[in-house]
Amino acid sequence: MKNIRNFCIIAHIDHGKSTLADRLLDFTGSVTEREKQEQLLDNMDLERERGITIKSHAIQMDYIHEGEHFVLNLIDTPGHVDFSYEVSRSIAACEGALLVVDAAQSIQAQTISNLYLALENDLEIIPVLNKVDLPSANIEEVTDDIVDLLGCDPSDVIPASAKTGLGIQEILDAIINRIPAPSGKVDAPLRALIFDSVYNPFRGVETFFRVINGTIKKGQHIKFVNTGKTYYADEVGTLKLQQLAKKEIKTGDVGYLITGIKDAREVKVGDTITDAENPTKEAVAGFEDVKPMVFAGIYPVDTEEYEDLRASMEKLQLNDASLVFTPESSAALGFGFRCGFLGMLHLEIIQERLEREFDMTVITTVPNVSYHAYTNKNPDDIILVNNPSDLPEPSTLNRVEEPYIKATIITKSDYVGNVMSLCIEKRGEITNQTYLTTERVELTFDMPLAEIVFDFYDRLKTVSRGYASFDYSPIGMRVSKLVKVDVLLNGNKVDALSALLHVDNAYDIGKKMCEKLKELIPRQQFDIPIQAAIGAKIIARETVKALRKDVTAKCYGGDISRKRKLLEKQKKGKKRMRQVGNVEIPQEAFMAVLKLN
Ligand code: GDP
Ligand code: MG
Repeated sequence: MKNIRNFCIIAHIDHGKSTLADRLLDFTGSVTEREKQEQLLDNMDLERERGITIKSHAIQMDYIHEGEHFVLNLIDTPGHVDFSYEVSRSIAACEGALLVVDAAQSIQAQTISNLYLALENDLEIIPVLNKVDLPSANIEEVTDDIVDLLGCDPSDVIPASAKTGLGIQEILDAIINRIPAPSGKVDAPLRALIFDSVYNPFRGVETFFRVINGTIKKGQHIKFVNTGKTYYADEVGTLKLQQLAKKEIKTGDVGYLITGIKDAREVKVGDTITDAENPTKEAVAGFEDVKPMVFAGIYPVDTEEYEDLRASMEKLQLNDASLVFTPESSAALGFGFRCGFLGMLHLEIIQERLEREFDMTVITTVPNVSYHAYTNKNPDDIILVNNPSDLPEPSTLNRVEEPYIKATIITKSDYVGNVMSLCIEKRGEITNQTYLTTERVELTFDMPLAEIVFDFYDRLKTVSRGYASFDYSPIGMRVSKLVKVDVLLNGNKVDALSALLHVDNAYDIGKKMCEKLKELIPRQQFDIPIQAAIGAKIIARETVKALRKDVTAKCYGGDISRKRKLLEKQKKGKKRMRQVGNVEIPQEAFMAVLKLN
């Protein structure tokens, strides 16, 4: 145990976490030439393409320090706010963290929120100033920022370049010298923290854990404390680049477990593994059932594909436990599913995976958060509103509550004004403003989740010219004045286009929605009126004008290559079009409400 070190890397996105992990693997000889690929830890195709780490993974390195053999377990953490609970569990499995800060960008919101998580878990922090090779690196200034933030000595900050390899030796030595060895009870009943799991179609769910007390052995009868289920440990082992089966994994170490579980939902991140016959008295603290934050309908473009879609979603859920769905039907779109996601990135990933891995063509409807509604008849009973159409009739409605978050934004002092205006526009209330340095300001706001899950981050980047970072955490439900805005096409209400909006914005957004839909809905042989309404009251109107005959003639006549192009374009467009009544609606129209600016 005294020669084990468990650590993670905390960094804002793009500050160099994955690159640094690769350098550490290189330096410790953990990768053969053949295995060398950029950013080894991001092993899902989608992750690599998007350049982000979606799921956390762990990897074990061997390192000889002054003639002594050490085992270093690096636990990788996801870099996106959608996955912050997983970050917290990975952090809880470590004794130390490398705090990686980009020398050209300095400290960002994500770094700070994860740093707080690490400090709450009493982790030893090793600050690493990365990218010192860049001409734009502000070595002294950013070192000062780090010293201010941590209250450490400037000499504790390790200048490094994950690109050139500078500082890697120093980082490894610091991991050995500064991070404490694990301190569990070898003789106590088994107590291991699940910090991640991955679905493997051949082997079932692979569970990644950190042993806190006791030992987990191959063949052992084990129990997951929070789900209450028992299994046999068919295989345990350590996570090298490949998995390496072992007889047992001891106190303080990190490993994987295979029990033949075929459903990802049985393995909950944060749960405790113990011995079924001799269970631990105390589960590991901090377990939470993750709840979806964003909901949207997913419908097959071709109504015939409903059963295929159901089968695909079920398969997808087997390897992504955070996806939830229930069947729903829409007057406009027919049968589909109301799905819950951790955030917008998660939604995009699911949509992409359905199309790539399952060859489905789907329509995703306007996403919304989860509201609580109360009727006058039963003012204490929560009605969960995950779909605008679930909102009770306005006349029977007592009140509606919406989820709020605390938003933390770090920006340059020059952009404070812009950031404030944006947050106020998004119904934010400022709760704090702190100058971290003369140049850098931390702002905190209470804001409705609904205002930030959609386009907020992009807008923030624009108004701050990229000099703002953002993080958030939920702070509960608050009463809010919300109304349902419906959209009518050609006089027919299209339920899949309804949205719940704050009453102060409803008129403005209703108008913009009509304008946007006018742009997106292709012209047809007849006029298509587009209307926005609250109840029976029409609040905005636009018209998609009919195609003139000669325009069509012109398009289809003449140049053959142009004609082919047009046909191809139509074919592609078809893929994501949905016929509603006699109007064709493209996928973008369903997301229009999110992209009004
Ligand atoms: P992550 O999002 O924190 O995992 O960041 P990555 O490791 O993916 O790095 C983001 C970008 O910064 C990539 O283009 C890297 O090649 C680059 N990068 C990482 N470390 C360094 C460094 O030390 N110097 C320079 N110049 N670029 C780096
Ligand atoms: Mg990365």
